[in-house]
Amino acid sequence: MSAATDRERLRIAVQKSGRLAEFSQDLLARCGLGFRRSRDKLFCFGESLAVDLLLVRDDDIPCLIEQGVCDIGIVGRNVLAEYSAARQDGGIVELRALDSAHCRLSIAVPQELSCATVQELNGLRIATSYPALLGAWLAEQGVAAPIVELSGSVEIAPRLGTADAICDLVSSGATLAANQLRETFKVLDSEAVVAGAQSPPADARGELLHLLLGRIDGVVRVRESKLVMLHIDRFGVDRINALLPNPQLPTVTPVEGGNGRVALQAVCDGPVTWQHLEDLRRAGASQLLVLPVEKLLA
Ligand code: ATP
Ligand code: ZN
Repeated sequence: MSAATDRERLRIAVQKSGRLAEFSQDLLARCGLGFRRSRDKLFCFGESLAVDLLLVRDDDIPCLIEQGVCDIGIVGRNVLAEYSAARQDGGIVELRALDSAHCRLSIAVPQELSCATVQELNGLRIATSYPALLGAWLAEQGVAAPIVELSGSVEIAPRLGTADAICDLVSSGATLAANQLRETFKVLDSEAVVAGAQSPPADARGELLHLLLGRIDGVVRVRESKLVMLHIDRFGVDRINALLPNPQLPTVTPVEGGNGRVALQAVCDGPVTWQHLEDLRRAGASQLLVLPVEKLLA
């Protein structure tokens, strides 16, 4: 790590605008962080903790961490992996996966092109904004294919005749379909991650980082979690536990004047659907209540 080691406040790089911008700000707000924006809107001063934000292009985030301008950043795994593949080092690492902004980096070919095996990629010109990741993947597969590096609009390269195939991010596949392309091989699974240096700062910032990562874990864990409360005959508890989606430490308490019925409550990791509730009722549960979980500190 080079510059800015004399900073006392933790600094987080987040995307200024784009798919991860609102998500990142929302995640940090859920972690209890509040910010005051500077006039140029590039810097946000943390008011609740000594944690500030730098609003940047997502591609710049790994480099800002490497240079010590920021301590951590919220970025797609695809961007971090491309940075690491290009430098062939593991200086900046994934500290947490955030289970959001899921997508994959995939190879796609024109619909009419046959491409059943990886070997059929041999000799095809592949357009991508991820040359290092693609290069490493091709080498691993033993495929020799020229890489055409493009900074954007990769999906139109085959139609323009500048490439035969592409390697780009896919989520729903709608963009590929609109460009008459077919997804063939997956290079990388991606989601939003917290990126940071391998070893945390050895000062107060390190403690802040530890605290913040703990809060992030709590937020990520409870995003889909629900507190389920219900009444059941006291002999039916095992039957109910088997029907709940990932129940964590179910608590059972007697119901006053309940004739052997008990109240069961459990935090369930994962969505609790109407179908779950109907199954629970059929299994003898009553007074079913599902509540969102706001915070969890295990
Ligand atoms: P910037 O202006 O900051 O450089 P960008 O245009 O490179 O932004 P976005 O399109 O906002 O980036 O995407 C940010 C991240 O969102 C991607 O790097 C990826 O991790 C994730 N993502 C999720 N789904 C998709 C998708 N369908 N296409 C592209 N990115 C996606
Ligand atoms: Zn970008």
